[in-house]
Amino acid sequence: MPATITFYGGLGEIGGNKILLEDKGTKVFLDFGKSFSARSRFYEWTERPRQANGIGDFLALGILPDIKGIYRRDLLQLANIPVEEDKSVNSVILSHAHADHADYVSFLRDDIEIWMGETTNHVIKAIEQEKDSNIEYEITEFKERPIDRKQPPIERRVKTFRTGKKITIDSIEIEPIHVDHSLPGCYGFVIRASSGTLVYSGDLRMHGTRPDLTTDFVNKAREAKPDMMLCEGTRINDTTSSNENSVYETCFKFAKQANDRDLFVFADYSYKDIDRFQTFYKLAKNSNRKILVTPKTARYLARLAENDPELAKVVPKPDDEFIGIYKHRAKSGSYADKDYDQYDLESFKQSNVWTYKDVQASKSKVIVALGAYHLQELIDLNPGNGIYMHSSSEPFNEEGEVDEARTNNWIERFGMVKVHAHCSGHASSVDLNYILDQIKPKLIIPIHTEHPEFFRTFRGVEALTLAEPLKPISIL
Ligand SMILES: [Zn+2]
Repeated sequence: MPATITFYGGLGEIGGNKILLEDKGTKVFLDFGKSFSARSRFYEWTERPRQANGIGDFLALGILPDIKGIYRRDLLQLANIPVEEDKSVNSVILSHAHADHADYVSFLRDDIEIWMGETTNHVIKAIEQEKDSNIEYEITEFKERPIDRKQPPIERRVKTFRTGKKITIDSIEIEPIHVDHSLPGCYGFVIRASSGTLVYSGDLRMHGTRPDLTTDFVNKAREAKPDMMLCEGTRINDTTSSNENSVYETCFKFAKQANDRDLFVFADYSYKDIDRFQTFYKLAKNSNRKILVTPKTARYLARLAENDPELAKVVPKPDDEFIGIYKHRAKSGSYADKDYDQYDLESFKQSNVWTYKDVQASKSKVIVALGAYHLQELIDLNPGNGIYMHSSSEPFNEEGEVDEARTNNWIERFGMVKVHAHCSGHASSVDLNYILDQIKPKLIIPIHTEHPEFFRTFRGVEALTLAEPLKPISIL
């Protein structure tokens, strides 16, 4: 029996990667992410499936695949679904910490090994530590807590890797190789199974700050002479090229203008994207402003820097002179200590804390980088005139859905002008073509794209299979 792959998500959609690799009875999932498209078919972004029915609503609506034996007992029992423990799924290998690749791990049995890059582990931990405080940056639907709160928190069997380490799971050998993407610690994989070699791209790009990482992956993948490649195609129909520097240049032009005219600046980008944070940090420094972030973002940066020596070199400390923490009004509206959770209170002990009144008094001294999930702060901030620097993708970013029309209403209502400056975490079609021409897989299966058929025109593609969900494909 040859090794096979079966898709439980990630085909014909951007995100939701859940790919089962099976070899001689060993089952390994490549990513186990949230499908925004499946979820948004039934729910608004802010709506949640009923927690009272455990995993039941997710399965009934097809937001999660119905696979026996892999899900948590407590979530199944709550939905009155018989618990069948098929222990043959041993492991999940995560390519990176974006929601559409990692978030639904929280539904899985806790004895399943979760392999991830060391930095991914730090990123997930940094986000997870916030889980009890607020749902806004929640990593998972159910968070990593048992339904019965008297039970201890779920301890996952996390195992980490770096480039150069090879993971052996029975007959499968997995070689992770770093790639550049819009988040630290991302990987692609060369996977050697008993019947053939598979390459999995994860999410990647060539135009970011570290194209050398992706080049390493491409070289390793080419040397492996893969029988099959699962290749992301998020931007298969997009040839535009912009990079982190062009984002900076555009924003700097407008920041200068804002300085000349004493204007407010609001920034909206993915808080997990360290490259983008650095771009805005540099923008703040060079336009003589401070970048104001949420306490959560400040803690995220601090934790990454604490745990990862590589990131510590590039991430400034939260008490840096060009960084400020924005203190929002909560519950009582009067900044009482009881209004905030312990994490926020701790963050507000720093000296560089700004309230909306501080911002009003020094509008042209700050870049308020709270993002689209905190537009309501504009009511307090009352910017008058200003520039809204929109620096993420639409309508789906890698964390969720933001309603563009509604965001625009807020921007307009508060007299701001929107400037769009973004560079994607995903390779353009030109770069995808280059990557495939280099690797030359015998067979390519497009994933993470709404237009798999566009791969047909590419050089380096000998054969293309438009895979179907739940139909195993042999790796030969
Ligand atoms: Zn991603």
